[in-house]
Amino acid sequence: AAMVKETIRVYARVKPLGRQQQAGIYSVDDDEKSLSSLEIIVPRDLADGFVNNKRESYKFKFQKIFDQEAKQDVVFDSIAKPVAECVLAGYNGTIFAYGQTGSGKTFTITGGAERYSDRGIIPRTLSYIFDQLQKDSSKVYTTYVSYLEIYNECGYDLLDPRHEASRLEDLPKVTIMEDPDQNIHLKNLSLQQATNEEEALNLLFLGDTNRMIAETPMNQASTRSHCIFTIHISSKEPGSATIQHSKLHLVDLAGSERVAKTGVGGHLLTEAKYINLSLHYLEQVIIALAEKKRSHIPYRNSMMTSVLRDSLGGNCMTTMIATLSIDQRNIDESIATCRFAQRVALIKNEAVLNEEIDPRLMIVQLKKEIQELKDELALVTGKQRTSELSQEELLRLDELLETFLEDNDPDSTLDVGADMRKIKYCFIHVKQLMNHSKISDKKLLSQYIPEEKETNKETGEELKKLKELLQQRDNEINILYILVNMLKKEKKKAQNALFQLNAASACSTVLDQSPPINLEESQSPSSWFSLKEAKDFSSSVHRLPFLSRKTGGKMSLGCQEAFEVFKQDHADSITIEDNKQLLKQKFAEAKCLGEKLNEVRIKINHLKGEITQRHVQRAALAVSSPSEELNTLDPVEEKLRTQIEEEKKSYKAMFNRVKGLKVEIEHLQLLIEKVKMKLQKDFEVWWSEETINLQQEKPELVSSPNTMTVYPQFIKSSQHLSTNSFSDTTRVSPNEDPAGKNNSITSSDPTLKTRAPPSSRTSIPLTGDSQADADILAFIKARQNILQKEGKSCQ
Ligand code: ADP
Ligand code: MG
Repeated sequence: AAMVKETIRVYARVKPLGRQQQAGIYSVDDDEKSLSSLEIIVPRDLADGFVNNKRESYKFKFQKIFDQEAKQDVVFDSIAKPVAECVLAGYNGTIFAYGQTGSGKTFTITGGAERYSDRGIIPRTLSYIFDQLQKDSSKVYTTYVSYLEIYNECGYDLLDPRHEASRLEDLPKVTIMEDPDQNIHLKNLSLQQATNEEEALNLLFLGDTNRMIAETPMNQASTRSHCIFTIHISSKEPGSATIQHSKLHLVDLAGSERVAKTGVGGHLLTEAKYINLSLHYLEQVIIALAEKKRSHIPYRNSMMTSVLRDSLGGNCMTTMIATLSIDQRNIDESIATCRFAQRVALIKNEAVLNEEIDPRLMIVQLKKEIQELKDELALVTGKQRTSELSQEELLRLDELLETFLEDNDPDSTLDVGADMRKIKYCFIHVKQLMNHSKISDKKLLSQYIPEEKETNKETGEELKKLKELLQQRDNEINILYILVNMLKKEKKKAQNALFQLNAASACSTVLDQSPPINLEESQSPSSWFSLKEAKDFSSSVHRLPFLSRKTGGKMSLGCQEAFEVFKQDHADSITIEDNKQLLKQKFAEAKCLGEKLNEVRIKINHLKGEITQRHVQRAALAVSSPSEELNTLDPVEEKLRTQIEEEKKSYKAMFNRVKGLKVEIEHLQLLIEKVKMKLQKDFEVWWSEETINLQQEKPELVSSPNTMTVYPQFIKSSQHLSTNSFSDTTRVSPNEDPAGKNNSITSSDPTLKTRAPPSSRTSIPLTGDSQADADILAFIKARQNILQKEGKSCQ
């Protein structure tokens, strides 16, 4: 806190002489720059005949000396205004007037009653302070006034509003209280709030009236009592919890005149004693304060010194006005007053800014700040933030936490958002779960010792269940593995096969032409049985290992075509087709089951999740409100478990069905393979026979225009049909190959197309063998079918 350290300022004011008074000899040396000095001359020869042995001249230093002509406004401006400013700034201040009765103390402090211009320091200070408070809107000020009269070591509240008081004793008595920190509190002294100058002046008038009424010739209150008018100011900046308190004591002391010791005159100045005892104690305090070595200051000796303790040698800006009535008869008193003032001038005071933090205001301020922050948060998040989380939010948090705790992924994180309430809730929740598991561990441990067998049994059952679950999972994985492997194998086989089934293969169209089963491939287990796999699989059965061996991986187009035709009429083909359809069905069924299995699995997992959530909720509940009910079985959980068991049953049933299907599928595959191989073998035998027959028995037919009419068209259509993979393979032209070593020629000759126009007539090279002839006829018929077909597609 700011501190002002300075000596008590001491001023002197000389009262104008009355009409009857003879002026004493004094001179004022008023230096504007430094201290002023007052010189008082004591005449050697006194009128009453006594000889004065003392010095003639006495010099005293004052801050400023106000001579007889000095007006109230000047006195106020010089003496009171600076103190009032300090008080407005938060420091304590005291102005006290000291002097003999009739020297002008009351006139200076309160003022004369006749003229407005005679207003003293109190009304002028009040006027000035309220003026300043009104000008300053940066702070909130509160002002109170109190008016205390001390007479005969008794305090009286002059601001008692009951006007019936006619004696000083009728006024409320004010007593001094000292708290453990040795702070002085004045009990019964009323603090009257004055919100403006008028109210404050009314209070001053009330106090002065009470003071006047209470005075009697007997108590000589105006002479023997001290009056302390105090202005209390507290100020606070808006929004701040810091309050400044300050008070300004305006003190009208009792008359400082002393009484002469009985005896010989001429010793008045040194031996005189205070009429007022409390002034005696005031002087003692001042003497003590002036002596630097003195550690004990006798403040407690009188009420007056107790009240003014802060103003003398303490936390205060203190000013003293020595009022002097320098007529010839009062020279001694004037000198005494000046001597007292000189000692007071030595006292150093340390004025400290009186600040304190009001806890109530602090609470109000913090509450306001919290509300502001909440509003800001609501603005940022777009949500009104209440201190409580909603039931929905709590459930959501439970779920998130559950998922997080069960997730084995080390990278998994728990993200509840930037909300401290949610984060705190999760921590509390985890703590509860941990405590719960600890408790159950303990329970298990305590149960272990006396109930070993039962625990073992329980554990055994649990272990058995787990083993079963493990076995079940293993089975699932196994069947998955088998199915995938099976499909892979078939795929590989198909790739190795000679026949890449495409448009040229009639077999492949079986699946291609079948109504599309609209099932998209997915990552789900249902894709175990995707259509693509089924296709790959089914196509893989159409391979011709014998043919591929003979032709070195490639078969002539003619042979291909021939095979197709041969196959179409072969009885085994029907078997193959039937089996393929069956296989397709089985695949579809397996796929469907796979999907269902997956669904059941998801359902089971979901039910398990529900049970876990149930556990967590009950655990939380057990911590927050333990009750025996929670230790019993949870009916909801039991129901969930039953559901799981049912789901597991259906899972097992379906799983077994899939297993059965797998066997069926494998069997069908083998069956198809077997029939296919037989078909190929038959064809190969037939084909080789036909080739030989054609070459040996009817060589002329080959070159005959009639037969030729068939081939160019055939070649053309074949070329057209063939895909790129067959582009450099050739047409079927067994009769164009005279060597008969190979069934194919290396390149197709486009000129062949124009060699001869197509003829509708076909010469048939019959063998004479009825079976062979029938075959050949069938072969040629098939070729014609193909030609017709291709002719259509060409147009
Ligand atoms: P005290 O309070 O010290 O006993 P007062 O203030 O009552 O003395 O003054 C005594 C008389 O002198 C009063 O009538 C007062 O009006 C008058 N008086 C005192 N000082 C002045 C002054 N500076 N100018 C004019 N009159 C004064
Ligand atoms: Mg007076």
